[in-house]
Amino acid sequence: METYVKLNTNAAMPVVGLGTWRASPGLVSEAMKVAIETGYRHIDGAFIYQNEAEVGDAICAMIKKGVVKREDLFIVSKLWCTFHEKSMVKAACQKTLNDLKLDYLDLYLIHCPIGLKAGDDLFPQDENEKMLCDDTNFLDTWEGMEELVDAGMVKAIGVSNFNHEQIEAILNKPGLKYKPANNQIECHPFLTQEKLISYCHSKGITVTAYSPLGSPDRPFAVAGEPSLLEDPKIKAIADKYRRTTAQVLIRFHVQRNVVVIPKSATPHRIKENFQIFDFELSEEDMATLMSFNRNWRAFTISWGVDHKDYPFKAEY
Ligand code: NDP
Repeated sequence: METYVKLNTNAAMPVVGLGTWRASPGLVSEAMKVAIETGYRHIDGAFIYQNEAEVGDAICAMIKKGVVKREDLFIVSKLWCTFHEKSMVKAACQKTLNDLKLDYLDLYLIHCPIGLKAGDDLFPQDENEKMLCDDTNFLDTWEGMEELVDAGMVKAIGVSNFNHEQIEAILNKPGLKYKPANNQIECHPFLTQEKLISYCHSKGITVTAYSPLGSPDRPFAVAGEPSLLEDPKIKAIADKYRRTTAQVLIRFHVQRNVVVIPKSATPHRIKENFQIFDFELSEEDMATLMSFNRNWRAFTISWGVDHKDYPFKAEY
């Protein structure tokens, strides 16, 4: 099984990466060290995770020790929603590069199509605690992203949480210079995203699955929501292969040619989540996993539901 997918830039993107959301600054350094020693070469980060400085320290330490070379790593970050104005994109990316102590990113994504009011506050709210969105146009933001490629700051650009109509809008933008290379979306057996993935693949856009384990520690979880890791039917499939439920949930994407970025800050789980290249789910079990779809999202981006660019009202 191939362990890379090819981007439309010709670059190779490792199919399994390490997620870093909620990897606390105190733990992320050890997590990165264990991950790189285990064989992970793809790290998924974002400015808004507020741990890029620690992630960068760990990457630099591993490069300095000779464990890995920069060119063998695939580092991803994301432009936060308060920096959607075209004129703000370069400084936002430069801040991430400074924090990571790198001179380029392998992939930089627009984190979400919805722009938030620019300013020092990363989650700007009005007096009623309603998020303050703005009406920036993500097509202008995309032009700012294209400038990063030309400036050599990033090798590839893409989007996250975009629906197919929004991607289509970018692809049809007059004067488009670079197509998106990747769309990072929530995906797992309870949200199989068949139409969006087929659409992206048909346009030569790779897909990355976030929250592949259902993001069990998300702070906004509501009692009674489904749990992928505790689902008896998924566990039964895992038992058949003598694997853990997490390993089946991760392997599921690799067999769909989808990149997957499980997060763990626990050394033994970081290793477990990478041991997925030595078994194969049967076609029948893949079909069974696909049949569990219930269009359930851990991330509804509920704060943006009234915004013109809210992505999850479209069918896909
Ligand atoms: P995941 O589905 O990856 O789940 C992470 C949680 O599962 C953590 O609590 C982790 O605990 C636990 N876990 C990890 N491995 C195992 C295992 N083998 N067995 C049992 N539990 C396990 O959730 P995320 O939401 O973090 O998604 C992954 C990554 O995707 C993020 O970290 C981020 O990089 C990206 N992401 C992107 C988004 C976007 O909008 N573009 C949105 C959300 C996520 P512990 O760490 O304690 O081991």
